[in-house]
Amino acid sequence: MPVEPPVVSPTSLAEAYALLAEGPITPIAGGTDLMVALTGELGEPPERMLDLWHLDELRGISLDGDAVVLGALTTYTLIRRSGLCREHLPALVEAAATIGAAQIQNRGTIGGNVVTASPAGDTLPVLLALDASLVCGSRRGEREVPATAFWPAYRQTALAPDELLLRIRFPLAAGRVTRFRKVGTRRAQSISKVVMALSYRDAGNAGPWTDVRLALGSVAPTPIRASATEAALEGKRPTPETADRAAETLAEELQPIDDVRSTAEYRRLVAARVLHRLIREAGGW
Ligand SMILES: Cc1cc2nc3c(=O)[nH]c(=O)nc-3n(C[C@H](O)[C@H](O)[C@H](O)COP(=O)(O)OP(=O)(O)OC[C@H]3O[C@@H](n4cnc5c(N)ncnc54)[C@H](O)[C@@H]3O)c2cc1C
Repeated sequence: MPVEPPVVSPTSLAEAYALLAEGPITPIAGGTDLMVALTGELGEPPERMLDLWHLDELRGISLDGDAVVLGALTTYTLIRRSGLCREHLPALVEAAATIGAAQIQNRGTIGGNVVTASPAGDTLPVLLALDASLVCGSRRGEREVPATAFWPAYRQTALAPDELLLRIRFPLAAGRVTRFRKVGTRRAQSISKVVMALSYRDAGNAGPWTDVRLALGSVAPTPIRASATEAALEGKRPTPETADRAAETLAEELQPIDDVRSTAEYRRLVAARVLHRLIREAGGW
C-alpha cells in the first residue's frame, strides 16, 4: 500500500515561500492531477506536500488596469460563474466548461493546469492566444513570464523549484475576438485529441484581421503557437480562400505524434478542419 506523504498547510505566502526554500516539497492545489501520482505508478510520488488551498493571496478574479487577473487557485467553476471572465475571456469560460465534469471543475484550478504543463491541458492554448503572462513568486520576489516562454519542453515549466505560480494576467485588447474548440472522444471527461484557441482583432465589415494568434494543444510536446498559419491569416478577411490557405498552412506546419489517443495524421487533418470551420463561422458563409 502506498503511504500518503505528509502535508504542510501554511497560512501565509511568506510561510509557503520559506517551506519551498527549505525543500523538497511539492505544492498541491486542487489535487486533481497530483493525487493521481500518489500511488507511485506514474513516477516518484512527492516526499512532502505544500497545501496551497488556504492561501487567499492566490485567490480572486479582478480587473487590474488593462488586464483581467486570475489567482492561481481559481477553479473552473469560478471561471464559469465569473461575470468578468464571461465578458472579457469567453474562450477561457468555454475551455473551463469542457474540463472533466462537475467534481473536477469544483476542485481543479487554472494554476494546477498551467503547472502540470500537459500538452493536452485545455486552458493553455487560451493563455497563448490571449498573450497571457504568468506571475511567479518566491522569497526572492515576483517576476512575470509570458505564456510563450512558460512551457519550454514536455511537461516542464519556467518555475524554479522554490517558486509558486501566483496569478495569471490576461491583457485586454479592444475589438479582440476569441474562439475555442476542443476535440475529444466524448463531450465530457475526455482528454483532448486537438485543442485550439484563435484570437484576432476584427476591424469590422471590410477591415482585415490583425494581431492574429493561433494556439494549439495535444499536437506537440508543449502547447504551441502556429506562427506560419498566423502569418497566413494576418491582414486577411475570413473568406473561403483565406480559410483554405490557412488550413493548408496549418496541416503543413503541424508535426504531431502518434499516441494511444490519435494518429499524427488524424490530428493534422482535424486541426486543419477545425480551423477552417472557425474561419467559416467567423465569416458567416
Ligand atoms: C477525471 C479527471 C478529468 C480531467 N479532465 C481534464 C480535462 O478535460 N482537461 C484538462 O486540461 N485537464 C483535465 N484534468 C486534469 C486536472 O484536473 C487539471 O489539470 C487541473 O487544472 C489541475 O489543477 P489542480 O488544482 O487539481 O492541480 P494539482 O493536482 O493540485 O497540481 C498539479 C501540479 O501543479 C502544481 N501546482 C499547482 N498549483 C500550483 C501553484 N500555484 N504554484 C506552483 N505549482 C502548483 C502541483 O505541484 C502539481 O505539480 C482531469 C483530471 C481528472 C482526474
